[in-house]
Amino acid sequence: MSTTASVIIIGAGISGISAAKELAENGVENVLILEATDRIGGRIQKQSFGDVSVELGAGWIAGVGGKESNPVWELASRLNLRTCFSDYTNARFNIYDRSGKIFPTGLAADSYKKAVDSAILNLKRLETQCADKISEEAPSSPKTPIELAIDFILHDFEMAEVEPISTYVDFGEREFLVADERGYESLLYKMAEDFLFTSDGIILDNRLKLNKVVREIEQSRNGVMVKTEDGSVYEANYVIVSASIGVLQSNLLSFQPPLPRWKTEAIQNCDVMVYTKIFLKFPHCFWPCGPGQEFFIYAHEQRGYFTFWQHMENAYPGSNILVVTLTNEESKRVEAQSDEETLEEAMCVLRDMFGPTIPYATDILVPRWWNNRFQRGSYSNYPMISDNQLQQNIKAPTGRIFFTGEHTSEKFSGYVHGGYLAGMETSKSLLEEMKQSLLLQPLLDFTE
Ligand code: FAD
Repeated sequence: MSTTASVIIIGAGISGISAAKELAENGVENVLILEATDRIGGRIQKQSFGDVSVELGAGWIAGVGGKESNPVWELASRLNLRTCFSDYTNARFNIYDRSGKIFPTGLAADSYKKAVDSAILNLKRLETQCADKISEEAPSSPKTPIELAIDFILHDFEMAEVEPISTYVDFGEREFLVADERGYESLLYKMAEDFLFTSDGIILDNRLKLNKVVREIEQSRNGVMVKTEDGSVYEANYVIVSASIGVLQSNLLSFQPPLPRWKTEAIQNCDVMVYTKIFLKFPHCFWPCGPGQEFFIYAHEQRGYFTFWQHMENAYPGSNILVVTLTNEESKRVEAQSDEETLEEAMCVLRDMFGPTIPYATDILVPRWWNNRFQRGSYSNYPMISDNQLQQNIKAPTGRIFFTGEHTSEKFSGYVHGGYLAGMETSKSLLEEMKQSLLLQPLLDFTE
């Protein structure tokens, strides 16, 4: 037996929830949200670690204090979410070498400036597409540990120093770390409360179905049929797919008829960033905690090897937690090994920086976004010189199937607010399509 809805939304991350809310607010209440996991939130996920709540996925509200107000910041303010200001820029002045010495400020500043200039030049080369013409000026690639460390933080964290990023241009340059026991995900519960039946913070509405892994989406002229791994079948007039770009690139979902070539090519051409925050709990602090010392860098001859560190004393004083962030190949390497091996590597790095007598970590938490079949990565990473058509094609509906998610946000892909705004935008397009098809209905009936 199948269940029928007007619209099925696949995925209950921020884009899926915001899409459903937009539909409900516009009179389309008969929606069904099918979520693969046992919770809402997707890449916004808290976990209790060392007596506090840490964020495995999104941690910051990025883009605050500018000319326009970031809608996610507004939601957080309404909920009185506890946040704390973060200043990454300090990181470049706390760069440790392998013998525990901090590089002199002047050297760090010069290396940073050189790296920014070279990244800007590279970008220009790509933009003008005349690499040959100016190849003599091509910047040399980073070689020394400090150059590699700076290259890593610049490209994987601070690209705003190189090219304008809409999040910071529109919403402001400040970033706030969510440090609230209720978690970043409480924003989604707050949004869900507006249109789903909840009691004591628990969603008790059968329009949200958890543990429903969608495997097949079959569309015909009259509607769409969705099949889940447990054999359930659902029917609807339209479907909104909010699964990540990594999931779309995998073979978890199959479409019938298959998606057109322009669509599959666009999906495959979008890069996926893997970003892993590893949490380490210690019996006591042994790292500097004064002003400007929240972030520090480890310079190693292997780019990205346990490079970017943060202590959590600003967010949770006395928590004695360090976070080290890995990306891409390093993330995948660490995901494939045991947590004990990762802990041993992290301890060697910390001993390099702070000496052999530091205490051993009492706990470690290693999220695995790459190996999570409902994510397959952390967020979309469009090429620096991205062809606008690529993003348009990723976002474009195919018949009755609409697409949303952070990767469909033209200006804010990769961010929580990107997912939030994309959900609303996709639903607005779908509402327009529904209106048009109603207008066309009498015409069709007449002509048949
Ligand atoms: P998701 O949250 O992925 O939602 C999609 C949902 O679809 C998921 O719940 C998934 O389980 C479900 N799903 C997938 N496949 C199926 C299926 N077959 N059937 C049913 N359901 C399915 N952004 C920031 O703004 N600030 C940050 O500091 C930040 N840091 C980040 C750090 C990490 C480690 C990660 C992973 C992300 C970070 N982001 C950050 C990005 C941000 O988390 C995402 O952009 C945003 O949460 C994406 O929301 P979404 O709704 O598009 O996707």
